[in-house]
Amino acid sequence: MDQSWHRAAYMTLQHLRGRPVGRFIRELRAREQLERGAFRQMIDSELKEQLRYARARVPLYSSGQWAEALSRGDATQLSAWPILDRATVRARGSELLARGLRPGTFYRSSSASTGEPLRIAWNPHGGAWGWANEYRVMLWYGVQPGVRTLLMWGSEHRLQDWVRNTRGFLTTALSPQRLEEAAQYVLHRRPGLVMGLPSALVLLARYIRTNYPDAPEQLVPFAKLGGEQIFPFQRDELQRHFGARTVEFYGCTEVGPIAAQCPAGSMHLLSDNSYIEICRDGEPVPDGEFGDIVATSLSNRAMPLVRCRIGDSGAISPDPCSCGRPYPVLASLIGRAADLFMAADGTKIHGSQLGVGLQKLLASTPLGVIRQVLFQQIDPLHWKVLVESGGGFDAPLAAQLTELVRSNFGRQCDVEIERVSVVPREPSGKFRYYRPPGLRAGGQPPVTVAPDPGRKHEDRLKMV
Ligand SMILES: [Zn+2]
Repeated sequence: MDQSWHRAAYMTLQHLRGRPVGRFIRELRAREQLERGAFRQMIDSELKEQLRYARARVPLYSSGQWAEALSRGDATQLSAWPILDRATVRARGSELLARGLRPGTFYRSSSASTGEPLRIAWNPHGGAWGWANEYRVMLWYGVQPGVRTLLMWGSEHRLQDWVRNTRGFLTTALSPQRLEEAAQYVLHRRPGLVMGLPSALVLLARYIRTNYPDAPEQLVPFAKLGGEQIFPFQRDELQRHFGARTVEFYGCTEVGPIAAQCPAGSMHLLSDNSYIEICRDGEPVPDGEFGDIVATSLSNRAMPLVRCRIGDSGAISPDPCSCGRPYPVLASLIGRAADLFMAADGTKIHGSQLGVGLQKLLASTPLGVIRQVLFQQIDPLHWKVLVESGGGFDAPLAAQLTELVRSNFGRQCDVEIERVSVVPREPSGKFRYYRPPGLRAGGQPPVTVAPDPGRKHEDRLKMV
């Protein structure tokens, strides 16, 4: 069965489930033809409509600080709304459910470092709109829904995956045997797209290049990345081992897809799906300035989050992208405070520095020698580095890893290198390259990508 059969079958299945993904993709493609001013006007009016709906239907927004602020101000103006924190979404989720929910409401949740996981209710149309946004971005690259796809992710939907021509490999159960099966799938079925968690895809790419060095250079045309942070070395390795062009997505559990990379290289805000503000001290800042990312869902009618501070910081570029698409550009992004490490001298340094250093080390190390690395900080003066190696890991390499920690976090750091058969993953199947003290396994996945001066925009990525 070919790609068009799978595409039609998938769209039909979703349509029957009340999720008209195909129609939404067509709608999104028409909307992206709009000129910037007209597009902005359309989004502004959809935002007002969503705010009216949220005000009328959501119990939390008639209580406490919301009741007070919205009775004073104009509730159709975003600026009248208090900022909503993740902690509130977590603790008062039931009060965020819209009254009069229709059947078909489903939940998505993310793992949490402390306390309750974050659970977000979605109406079927809201969920479908998010998926349509993602498929639409891949169409910018000429990648059609239904293309043969290998997926590496922390969860799976087997029937749905089969219908949409996708072979899933769970990152929570990536045994050597499963890795070999994934390699065989790539080598013999030659998928048009690989997608999923960058750490897992890089592992597979390295595995194939190590064990099947004579495989064609251009193995996979595209790699769609999301779900965890993306480091430049990962992008680099996927290009080198797969010959793949990488397409990056950024999003969160709260509102779904937030931004995606266009063929010109910019991370465009997916404004049809969520309205993004950059705020400092609760007030929006002008384009170009850095602040907290505050997201308002435009599509979710089951749990319409308004002005939710999702925990990342960034800036919106004052300049449009050369590609002409009407969406603003996310110019930079910085991760959560949870990803900050205390250096030996007391300064705070972001863990992504380790990812930057790791790139250089991996580039000069034969393939397969270092399969995975996890830098764990015990306290500001003590680090433990877990290394999963396919053999050939020696003292000079251990010294380089030690140096990587010391050059970033202080010369007096005590660094213990431990070789392990498998570097543990989070229960979600996601992978961290570094773990701050006190964060147990299953903690929040990191969200930042290391700065890459070679790119037009310093981008970072996380996707639900
Ligand atoms: Zn663009």
